[in-house]
Amino acid sequence: MSRDEVTIPIDMGPVEIAREERKASAPVQREVVFDLRDLGVRYGTTTAVSGVNFEIYQNLITAMIGPSGCGKSTVIRCLNRMNDLVPTAKIDGEVHYHGQDIYGDGVDPVEVRRRIGMVFQRANPFPKSIYDNVAWGPRVLGMKKNLDERVEKALRGAALWDEVKDRLKKSGLSLSGGQQQRLCIARAIAIEPEVLLLDEPASALDPIATAAIEDLMHDLKQEYTIVIVTHNMQQAARVADRTAFFSLEVGQGKRTGVLVEYDSTDKLFTNPTDKRTEDYVTGRFG
Ligand code: ADP
Repeated sequence: MSRDEVTIPIDMGPVEIAREERKASAPVQREVVFDLRDLGVRYGTTTAVSGVNFEIYQNLITAMIGPSGCGKSTVIRCLNRMNDLVPTAKIDGEVHYHGQDIYGDGVDPVEVRRRIGMVFQRANPFPKSIYDNVAWGPRVLGMKKNLDERVEKALRGAALWDEVKDRLKKSGLSLSGGQQQRLCIARAIAIEPEVLLLDEPASALDPIATAAIEDLMHDLKQEYTIVIVTHNMQQAARVADRTAFFSLEVGQGKRTGVLVEYDSTDKLFTNPTDKRTEDYVTGRFG
């Protein structure tokens, strides 16, 4: 092992983190993209998550980890107003994006989602050609100039171009699971968002396809701010610069998701401040 790497002993096996990379991407001087202020979400009368405060920085990969049901997906969906589409969901608090509350008066959720793209757990290509999947967003938004170039750029950006350039007219559904997920990433970046939200993007993929997505994330963060929900701690340790650990607080017979600790990934995994984080990252809980 080189001097620049550190091995973190967690129960699920050794995880290597390149030290130089962590240093280079430390959040100092980074612009704040999201500022979550006392964010809470209720579904009907049930509080899913409450009192969430943290900042997400530009051109970093920020991971959200924690046991199932602690509100990770709920929180990531708040970042581009995807929860608006859940009729029972009620949002408390504020989500500032470059200083503006995206839940404020007069904010158009469609414009929010144009700037803040999202990729889901299950790859969900449209039953259309590979080309039309990627061209769909630009066409809807009237970005029709140089469409071929735009499609190629997005497919290259998603590290898929070489695999599909000779079969752009074939159905997106003809691709493997890993390729379909990269096609969804290409579809998301074709409209040139600033942020990519990835909700468990690799959980349905085999290890090789997962590694391809993780490599891709490293490349994409040069251009995008990335937020990822993952149930896989090793994945968070491998890809994320900063990690938010969520857990469930039990009180009065109710379980509510809370943000326990947020720090550089290195610190959170090797020297957490909170006992609950330590128990989780060492595999004693969850
Ligand atoms: P995680 O991503 O950490 O597994 P979720 O955000 O999916 O957690 O869920 C947090 C809580 O909110 C859970 O109790 C879940 O059942 C509830 N929940 C999530 N989505 C909905 C929904 N659309 N309607 C009602 N309850 C929901």
